[in-house]
Amino acid sequence: MRKTSGLNKDQIGMKKFNLFSVVFLAVLMITACSKKDSFQEVQDDSLILKNASVKTDYEMVPNEILVRFKEGTESSKKELVFAKLNGKLKEKILTKMMEKNGDKNGIDLVSISGTVANAILEAKNYPEVEYAEPNYIYQHFVTSNDTYYTNGSLWGMYGSSTSPSNQYGSQAAAAWAKGQIGSATVYVGIIDEGYMYTHEDLAANAGTNPGEIAGNGIDDDDNGYKDDVYGWDFDGNNSTVFDGTGDDHGTHVAGTIGGVGGNGKGVAGICWNVKLLDAKFLGSRGGTTANAIKAVDYFTDLKVDQNLNIVATNNSWGGGGFSQALKDAIDRANLAGILFIAAAGNSGTNNDTSPSYPSNYTSANVIAVAALTSTGGLASYSQYGATTVDLGAPGSAIYSCVPVKSGKNVVSGYASYSGTSMATPHVTGAVALYVATKGLTPHTAADALAIKTAILGSVTATPSLSGKCATGGRLNVSAF
Ligand code: CA
Repeated sequence: MRKTSGLNKDQIGMKKFNLFSVVFLAVLMITACSKKDSFQEVQDDSLILKNASVKTDYEMVPNEILVRFKEGTESSKKELVFAKLNGKLKEKILTKMMEKNGDKNGIDLVSISGTVANAILEAKNYPEVEYAEPNYIYQHFVTSNDTYYTNGSLWGMYGSSTSPSNQYGSQAAAAWAKGQIGSATVYVGIIDEGYMYTHEDLAANAGTNPGEIAGNGIDDDDNGYKDDVYGWDFDGNNSTVFDGTGDDHGTHVAGTIGGVGGNGKGVAGICWNVKLLDAKFLGSRGGTTANAIKAVDYFTDLKVDQNLNIVATNNSWGGGGFSQALKDAIDRANLAGILFIAAAGNSGTNNDTSPSYPSNYTSANVIAVAALTSTGGLASYSQYGATTVDLGAPGSAIYSCVPVKSGKNVVSGYASYSGTSMATPHVTGAVALYVATKGLTPHTAADALAIKTAILGSVTATPSLSGKCATGGRLNVSAF
């Protein structure tokens, strides 16, 4: 029920690859293949000045923009601006985290009758408007769905001295051999599709919100979401974070982070013992900036309010241009000591010259991840960047958990996918394992930075990554 317009993973991947590869000419040439809105009509640079060198066309929700008013703007003034935009307020986004930061305004999701580009240009004429931006649409960064793998194919977990071995694996198996298998006190937030928390290789690591009583229809922990036990579905706006066979990408990501190890079946994640929580915001047509903001803040709030030891979020998705609103949310996560692990993208391009978001946000808690093949090459699809991508990790032909249809039922299954989507959860799992091994409880930006420094400081220098990422190396889980 959640397949993207009937496209399979290969087609989705190719679509993205093509879209990202085609247009490099000039910012005003930006076209929108499947969208009503386009930036073609923009006659000055005010909309795109932050991304003057960006080559992508941006997928965005037609007839919607996000508007941030300056603090203290009266509602009558806001209504006046909405009227000038031929628009009306669709939703006020004011998360608990924004309120905690003294924000009374939040961000207004505004329905407009004209184009996004024109509305943004118009909005910028009003001094009350701090910024206005598109409600971008993001997609996950998987590229292909190979045939099922049999035992012994988990190369991303191998090390040079493990059996089976692969020097280009993450060396996680070497860490396991030292008894480093994680801790149930460490939580990771998956910002993605939903995930199959009942999967035979995930159920033991399915985290729950301790402040919520399941199924009583009450927002027990007063975080704005009723019965958010395993997380929240921001796309469907309900508590169901597993909706069936469509949540395969999120389930695959979950398995790489925290597939249960040592249970004699399926796969093993980087961190055998961890608690996973999910913020589903990628729906059948992708996810929006508006929901991404809420998803990021959801985990930050759980940490700040419930004192859950959430150490990182996994972000195997991207698209769109720079969003101040989303960056602000990532910065709030940073202040709470939550790392934001992000896929570099699958267009094979250079993120230094063609920014890719969210991995290009300069927030200190962002770790941007490129994808490696099992023979140590930078995957052909993987985006890279000498200053904007941090490290490489196994991304091609990665075997992990998926839901599979069996008659009328959905059962536990396994599949191999490729993409920077798959590289990213190796790093997220490594963060969780590192925190567990060291017994850390990160709460501040300095704590997050120390963990990031440790992960990046322990990479193994890799020829294919030299000059392609800031560390020039690949993830090495056993080095810490
Ligand atoms: Ca709740």
